[in-house]
Amino acid sequence: MSVAPSRTVALGNRFATELPELGIPWKAQPVADPRLLVLNERLAQSLGLDAEWLAGDEGLRFLTGGAVPPDATPVAQGYAGHQFGFYSPRLGDGRALLLGELAGADGELRDLHLKGSGRTPFARGGDGLAAVGPMLREHLVSEAMHALGVPTTRSLAVVATGRQVQRETVLPGALLARVASSHLRVGSFQLARATDDLDLLRRLADHAISRHHPEAADAEHPYRAFFAAVVSAQARLVAQWMLVGFVHGVMNTDNMTVSGETIDYGPCAFMDAFDPTVVYSSIDEGGRYAYGNQPVVAEWNLARFAESLLPLLHDEQDEGVEIAVELLGAFRREYSAAWVAGMRAKLGIPETADEAVTRPLLDDLLALLRDNHVDHTSFHRRLSRAARGDSEPARALVLDLAGVDAWLDRWRALDPDPDAMDRVNPAYVPRNHLVEEALEAATAGDLAPFHRLLDVVTRPFEERPGLERYAEPAPDSFGPYRTFCGT
Ligand code: AMP
Ligand code: MG
Repeated sequence: MSVAPSRTVALGNRFATELPELGIPWKAQPVADPRLLVLNERLAQSLGLDAEWLAGDEGLRFLTGGAVPPDATPVAQGYAGHQFGFYSPRLGDGRALLLGELAGADGELRDLHLKGSGRTPFARGGDGLAAVGPMLREHLVSEAMHALGVPTTRSLAVVATGRQVQRETVLPGALLARVASSHLRVGSFQLARATDDLDLLRRLADHAISRHHPEAADAEHPYRAFFAAVVSAQARLVAQWMLVGFVHGVMNTDNMTVSGETIDYGPCAFMDAFDPTVVYSSIDEGGRYAYGNQPVVAEWNLARFAESLLPLLHDEQDEGVEIAVELLGAFRREYSAAWVAGMRAKLGIPETADEAVTRPLLDDLLALLRDNHVDHTSFHRRLSRAARGDSEPARALVLDLAGVDAWLDRWRALDPDPDAMDRVNPAYVPRNHLVEEALEAATAGDLAPFHRLLDVVTRPFEERPGLERYAEPAPDSFGPYRTFCGT
């Protein structure tokens, strides 16, 4: 039975009513004994939700999908997608639900979505559930990404369900309440295109334009402007991933948003030693989603997006293809510009510095970091001390001392600004060994390490005494890191 919360939260049903073909009205599996593991009070506040209420009985019923506001129409969203390059015509929310849209204080709509809320018609062989570890992991890493300034879905809460979830072992179950500017994916467009229903494709594009790229509506060719806006948002997003050393791990087209937010923190990881070939996901055997491949994969995914939009780009297919190729050509330029600007900021190099000097400096740095297996996060953070006159902390991370000294001399000649560097180079990222340690403890019932780590990584630029351990790379004993999808 679903009970309406007495303090009703207004949840819209725009997706459900505008795009009924792409969602199946559905209900969450009831949670008899919900227990709050973490609540994002600041996010709740910014959404106009009362944190105290959310943490109470009624709020928990709301957060687990048991109490649905009167006008809401929760749906399991359908989508298709290329997974590791292979097309799946029918994916969709197998264990998730879009509860509805919240209007934030800024007037923007945001999706409220549950993950781990029980089987849906898209579940295929899955059990529809999620375990405590992977849901806390999404909370932790997405909130760290947000604090790092990377566009991302947010986590409002993680609630333990009291269910047992069978994976390789039996694990405690949990559910994540996620907030996103929307859950429209490249795969949503692939599904709409595959139906051959041009009206549906157009409605989906109009819906996406109005929610994410409203300026496109006023362009001479709104759908071309929309495609260009998504290309641009993704180019900037992936550049930010590269700058912070984030490896998404499963960049399938159903895990790429049209809003330009990072979505689906499954087998993701933060790179420690700089290595373009690094792969953490246990299922990514071919290294398709390796750190250094991410820009190329994003471009490949956007080509699939262009294919699904083709009939909206031009009435004639050949001309549509030509337009798509030209618009997609912006990806490399925009990615490169965003990455170079980001690297200059990380190195504190003034914008007036000559491109002919800075570009080789950047390339040589990457080669130095790669060849010496240098920890990405701590090297960049320590570099500001080198700009202040103390090179030792950065030098200590590099074996090739002659090489690093020569590079430091060239870089210092550009007069880098250490304070500006400290504002963009994090001292703390969710390091893999710390994440594992926190999740293992949480799974066993001790949430203290998780909350401590969450506090550290959500203030990433603020170096604090006593937190040295959180800034260090994994000890050698941690070994090569492997992540799992957690499904
Ligand atoms: P993901 O890798 O998390 O993006 O999931 C890929 C697809 O598998 C999506 O359609 C999910 O809804 C579905 N899926 C993942 N885990 C489960 C599960 N435990 N039960 C049902 N569907 C699942
Ligand atoms: Mg997904």
